Amino acid sequence: MAQVRMLSDDLVAKIAAGEVVERPASVVKELVENSLDAGAVRVTVEVEESGQREIRVSDDGCGMSRDDCTRAVKRYSTSKIRFASDLEHIATLGFRGEALAAIAAAATIEIVTRCSGDDCGTRLIVQDGRVAGVEDSGTPVGTTVTVRDLFLRTPARRKFLKSAGTELGHVTGAVMRLAVAHPGVGFTLRSSRKEVLGAPPGQGIDERVRSLYGGLLADGLLEVDDSSRGVRVTGRAAKAELARGQPDRLFFVVGGRPVTGRMLSHGVTAGYDALLPRGRYPVAFIFLELEDGAMDVNVHPTKREVRFADDRAVHDAIARAVRAAMGKSPAGGREALEHAAGVREALGRYISVSGSGGRQGLLSGDATAAPAGTPRQGGAGLRAWEGPPPVQVAQSYLLVESDEGLVLVDQHAAHERVLYERLSRGLASGRPECQLLLVPIEMELAVGEWELYRECAPELARVGFEMEEFGARTLLIRGIPAAASGRDARELIAGIVGDLGETWKPGVKDITEPLARSLSCHAAVKAGERMSMEEMKSLLSDLGRCELAQACPHGRPVTVCWTLEEIEKRFRRR
Ligand code: ADP
Ligand code: MG
Repeated sequence: MAQVRMLSDDLVAKIAAGEVVERPASVVKELVENSLDAGAVRVTVEVEESGQREIRVSDDGCGMSRDDCTRAVKRYSTSKIRFASDLEHIATLGFRGEALAAIAAAATIEIVTRCSGDDCGTRLIVQDGRVAGVEDSGTPVGTTVTVRDLFLRTPARRKFLKSAGTELGHVTGAVMRLAVAHPGVGFTLRSSRKEVLGAPPGQGIDERVRSLYGGLLADGLLEVDDSSRGVRVTGRAAKAELARGQPDRLFFVVGGRPVTGRMLSHGVTAGYDALLPRGRYPVAFIFLELEDGAMDVNVHPTKREVRFADDRAVHDAIARAVRAAMGKSPAGGREALEHAAGVREALGRYISVSGSGGRQGLLSGDATAAPAGTPRQGGAGLRAWEGPPPVQVAQSYLLVESDEGLVLVDQHAAHERVLYERLSRGLASGRPECQLLLVPIEMELAVGEWELYRECAPELARVGFEMEEFGARTLLIRGIPAAASGRDARELIAGIVGDLGETWKPGVKDITEPLARSLSCHAAVKAGERMSMEEMKSLLSDLGRCELAQACPHGRPVTVCWTLEEIEKRFRRR
């Protein structure tokens, strides 16, 4: 083994910097946090080449004197704490005194700043981790930090960066999180001089959500405000219908700091109880207040995760607060909760006696063998519409008789399957069926969704949407796919664009298939929706004509079947 040596300060700085500065978004986060700590009312973030070439954060905060500014770029220099005891009650976002030094170790920095007591400001350049120039500069009170050529001298790090789109996505995410956590502060994000995000100062959480995500979400928020076990929980939770396919709109803020944690997310999900369909994630903006000492933020350099003295208390307080919010909601709240519980009960009346007897599978016979257009024979063997009428159970399942016995059809999964095949036929023929709206509808997309929409616009047209751009982030919807006629156009598009966010990535060529799946899911009748006899019969008859009636496009079963034999065994007739 080689000799043990002390590392040079330079090298130590470089190693430590890696923890704080992982990608452009980490630089943006640190600089914006400094602006917030400086009491800024407005913060502007500008990036070039997703931040790899240049990141500039300007604020109208308190600014720095020349001495402070020169010290600030050194390691472990901070104005935010002095004594170990200060760690017990940290009121600022920063306190470790590492960020500027870490950034300086990975890039060239220019700081232009003036504090209110000084007549003249300062311009400071830091290159290769060392101060390379200090001069006077006429500048308003506040600070502008410009970071150039990040990781130019650490090619290994640079190599780990993802595509420009991905990095910009991370930058946007970092700004969004802080903008949600500080609705009172104005935020602007520009990428290559184009505005990506703009939210004026002085907003409350509702207005902030409206600025960032548009009206559909803002109008669907329920107030959360509850305290228990020493934890105060405030904020907003969205109606269950606005849940998403990914947990990308689930925010937690503690002491102005955006944080994440499985326990926190679970608390929210638990609060929705059975309201959320499986695989859907709630949308919520949760602010936590804890007593001094109930939390430690000094766990990780980036402070994205915090440690709570009593996880359970925090979890339960969140769940309780969200549950209370859902209960207050006029529609879709308590009612839907009771409905979900009712499903179990109602089904119990019909099938829970079957215990393990339930069998998932085909209606009966081989659905694929049924030639299209022969519904009288019942396609897949269903004969509900010629024999006894179907019964809707718990507004979610259709109970029908088949040749073999008893069949429960999941109305949503069945409709999804029917719509999916209809869409696939339209796609194959190149002539999508479009249902024009009587009055075109305007819709504002969320920050970050606009680019996604534009990328996917041709595909959306292919499945039957007729839309045009109608201003910054705003769409004019003229028509929706006929398969979805009768559905709320804005909710439909919000759902689909949300799903696309998961599936679409730069370079992915074919999104038709996932798009068709997503569209059929959002256009299909939902569990909990009452269906008329006509609707039930036409759904069953359409299902009978499907090529693959046994599974929805996501692979979940459409039907559950009990054979006569199984039923007779239950009744001890065999
Ligand atoms: P920390 O935020 O943990 O203190 P930083 O390295 O991020 O460490 O910043 C060092 C110091 O520089 C801060 O404590 C603060 O006094 C000063 N500073 C940094 N950015 C700003 C800013 N935008 N406005 C005013 N002061 C700033
Ligand atoms: Mg800082």
